[in-house]
Amino acid sequence: MERWRTHTLLPLVLDALGLTGTDPATRRLAEAFGGEPAAVRERLVGEPARRSRRLLFASGGEIVLHDDAVAAVVLHLGPTPHAPRGLDLAEWIDGADGDATLEQLVTAVGAPRHFAGFGTPYLTLDGGYARLDFRDRRGWNEPGNLLSITVTAEEPGRTTRPEDDDCPSCSDLLVRREPAGGVDVEATVDALAAALAVGPLTEDAHWVRLADLQPLHASGLMERVESQLTCTTCRRIICLTLFRDSPPTFRYAVLDEAMRRPLEPIPPVEQWGDAARIAEEAGSMHHVDHEPGAWFLLEQQGVLYLHARYVINTMLDDSALIRLDDTEHEAYRTGGRSYISRLARRIHDGSPHEKSSPFHQRNLLRGPDARSYRDAVAQAVVNHTWLAEQRRR
Ligand SMILES: [Zn+2]
Repeated sequence: MERWRTHTLLPLVLDALGLTGTDPATRRLAEAFGGEPAAVRERLVGEPARRSRRLLFASGGEIVLHDDAVAAVVLHLGPTPHAPRGLDLAEWIDGADGDATLEQLVTAVGAPRHFAGFGTPYLTLDGGYARLDFRDRRGWNEPGNLLSITVTAEEPGRTTRPEDDDCPSCSDLLVRREPAGGVDVEATVDALAAALAVGPLTEDAHWVRLADLQPLHASGLMERVESQLTCTTCRRIICLTLFRDSPPTFRYAVLDEAMRRPLEPIPPVEQWGDAARIAEEAGSMHHVDHEPGAWFLLEQQGVLYLHARYVINTMLDDSALIRLDDTEHEAYRTGGRSYISRLARRIHDGSPHEKSSPFHQRNLLRGPDARSYRDAVAQAVVNHTWLAEQRRR
């Protein structure tokens, strides 16, 4: 049996996961945290709504309930507004204290260590996971950097973090209809657009643009229309979805979940956009042809662009965007698709990431307008990517 099972209070935490707030196991944990919470924070999250309840104890303990089931237990080690001294970790994990490094925690708990993405170490326990938060999401080799330990039944990285329910940047962007409930689409789109304009949100061009969401929905051409926006503070992805036959939803997802959400091909703008939107589309980049997994040929106001993948090494690949010059343009006119395949091959084999490559200087994704080129490409190929194939299934 692992040492922590017999020598610490940690089993109290694991016992409570998934149980209701009034279950004896949850009561025992609350007693160990000092009895009554010093503060209770409550809010509805998303739509369909989930009730998030955070019980903050003066000892540094915290119990997070989702719809009255314990979703997470947090041991806060640093001072917090409700717990000026922080939790005494030695009472909870034998052989560890507030100065513990990652290595010391692995030894003290005797459980395997993993990483959920960059900078998020966690330990696999019997019946749960302990995510370890260190200062600046690194610094786990020096003492004094451990901020908190969050114990959940869900594996870290697979779903949103319970503490993000209260993210200051994105948790108040959903506007509900009064008094009926549900998403007030108009007001929510306005709130999201405002957050996009000033910064905390970024828009994912692989989905429906927020500005296009309502016109596309109104056209009735799509079964479900979805925009995805990423919060730069908590990294959650907001998925706002309007359905032809059911009420709108507003969900928070992690990248893996968000990528798997379905989306049908977006119909041509002429079928749903107003005159201004159609004019805008006429001036933007368009898909001409592509070879799955290799290249896209794009056109914008008579200029051709080639977006080609290349390999840096066996672990890493990237892509380059090249504006076809007059000679290449002419070669395409006479040689067609097979000429583009040969050109893409030259880019693929030409190491555009190296300064010596003839494609290095020409790669528009390295220049000052890289971001806007990336978005333009993403929007032009939105119906033609591998991801688009996947989410149609
Ligand atoms: Zn956020």
